[in-house]
Amino acid sequence: MERKKIATVWLGGCSGCHMSLLDIDERILDLVKMADIVKSPIVDGKDFPDVDIALVEGSVTSDEHWNEIKHIRKHSKILIALGDCAVMTNVTGMRNYFPLQDVMDTAYLNAISNDGEGKAPNHPALLKLNDKVVPLQEVVNVDVVLPGCPPDADTIFYVLMELLNDRQPNLSEVKKLKYG
Ligand code: SF4
Repeated sequence: MERKKIATVWLGGCSGCHMSLLDIDERILDLVKMADIVKSPIVDGKDFPDVDIALVEGSVTSDEHWNEIKHIRKHSKILIALGDCAVMTNVTGMRNYFPLQDVMDTAYLNAISNDGEGKAPNHPALLKLNDKVVPLQEVVNVDVVLPGCPPDADTIFYVLMELLNDRQPNLSEVKKLKYG
């Protein structure tokens, strides 16, 4: 069987979903027997290559994210929404209840921990946040949803192995495997 290519991507999330992915521990050896992880926050390389599976953590918070997820979709056969922020905006989307400027002022100017010297960051390398956070499926088609905050390592591993073996994952199978 031809080796497949996997990418993992971190948009507007807290990295907790990626930490959960790392919790598959030694089972990573089973994964790398079948696939190469060609792009991730810890694998170097600027361009997003053509991949079989892309796992995307987090929601879309900026125009940069919008363009990035469009590009990822174009270059991925299967796109997995990794975690609740990806499909419900969840924690990342909590700021949607308030005007963006109020959120920025609260974070950088008016926070209790602020000594009065704070100012909002304004570096060109930083993302320019959009008014609203949106989930992936408002921008691109999502093939598989991996729910949870974060999804647990067993579920991530199960879904990846099913897809690598050209099977459609059935999340109710994970519960059976875990709880009998
Ligand atoms: S789903 Fe939870 S763990 Fe994953 S990025 Fe969002 S807040 Fe973090």
